[in-house]
Amino acid sequence: MVVATAEGAWMTDVEGNRYLDMLAGYSALNFGHGNPRLRDAARAQLDRVTLTSRAFHHDRFAEFCTQLAELCGKDMVLPMNTGAEAVETAVKTARKWGYRVKGVPEGRAKIVVAENNFHGRTTTIVSFSTDPEARADYGPYTPGFEIVPYGDLAALTAAVDDDTVAVLLEPIQGEAGVLVPPPGYLTGVRELTAARNVLFMADEIQSGLGRTGRTFACEHEDVVPDVYILGKALGGGVVPVSAVVASREVLGVFHPGEHGSTFGGNPLACAVGLEVIAMLRTGEYQQRATELGEHLHHELGLLTGTGAVREVRGRGLWAGVDIDPAHGTGRQISEKLMARGVLVKDTHGSTIRIAPPLVITKEDLNWGLTQLRETLTA
Ligand code: PLP
Repeated sequence: MVVATAEGAWMTDVEGNRYLDMLAGYSALNFGHGNPRLRDAARAQLDRVTLTSRAFHHDRFAEFCTQLAELCGKDMVLPMNTGAEAVETAVKTARKWGYRVKGVPEGRAKIVVAENNFHGRTTTIVSFSTDPEARADYGPYTPGFEIVPYGDLAALTAAVDDDTVAVLLEPIQGEAGVLVPPPGYLTGVRELTAARNVLFMADEIQSGLGRTGRTFACEHEDVVPDVYILGKALGGGVVPVSAVVASREVLGVFHPGEHGSTFGGNPLACAVGLEVIAMLRTGEYQQRATELGEHLHHELGLLTGTGAVREVRGRGLWAGVDIDPAHGTGRQISEKLMARGVLVKDTHGSTIRIAPPLVITKEDLNWGLTQLRETLTA
């Protein structure tokens, strides 16, 4: 399947076949393909200026940083491009904050992360991955990370010591198969990190910006992390836009020349990002994710009764569906669905992920679910 065009929740391949996109670029396409507001914002900016590098200021930069900081309830924004770059930036932020503000002895900063994490694919990030596919053969690995089981507060508490500068977590683990932590976990992480003067860094690259029914997945437990790491949908599926967002006490550790990116915060990225923020401010997308998500989980719940599905996890318009291996691998089910005109993605053997654009209609969602039901019960 080779895509030629796309609109809303639908993609068309080079032969003219149509497919319902139930993956949405791993949530980068929360607002759908070719969203008119994002398209217009990009077009207008294309005619003005697209790149100045960070050597020179441009007139969309301050506006973007101000609006994004406000959306997050924070003071400062450090824009990058890809998610992995934002995570790398957060790692550097935490270490620098640890040495300059917390007073950790040089070279000892520790960051605690979770098993089954996915934070990107740079050499440092894969150093603390527990997925052999992502990690194997890329050593020597970057030290300074301790890995604990996800959702286990006692293990996290035991891992945090005086040299710990940050806890880095996905509020819902996406690539791991949409794993939602036990209730109270994020609250516990917040309390622990606050008590131990450790930064809570929430990687909301996939979970954030509407997907779960809230602007941030942390909101489901009314938790405000110290650092938000954002990406994917921040660029509306038009351009890569990522960012680290935090208080002045934290991000203020950087001074000019100490960190940067040629394309980070470029005018086109800021113009699209600003429109994304304006769209999120309406609450419309969060509401769609909540309502359609309830429907999605209700329907998937019915499938667990058929025996073809072992477990369904998720929040909002986002689900990880564990298929009974007797019905095939996640990959095989994904391929059968593709033949029926539905695109999903497998992960870790027998799991498929469902995360359509938040603009999908209920009718289209139902049609996609019918294809899944028929594929599993055929
Ligand atoms: N963090 C999370 C939670 C992700 O899901 C991803 C991508 O899937 C990343 C980071 C990496 O983002 P990127 O692929 O833009 O580098």
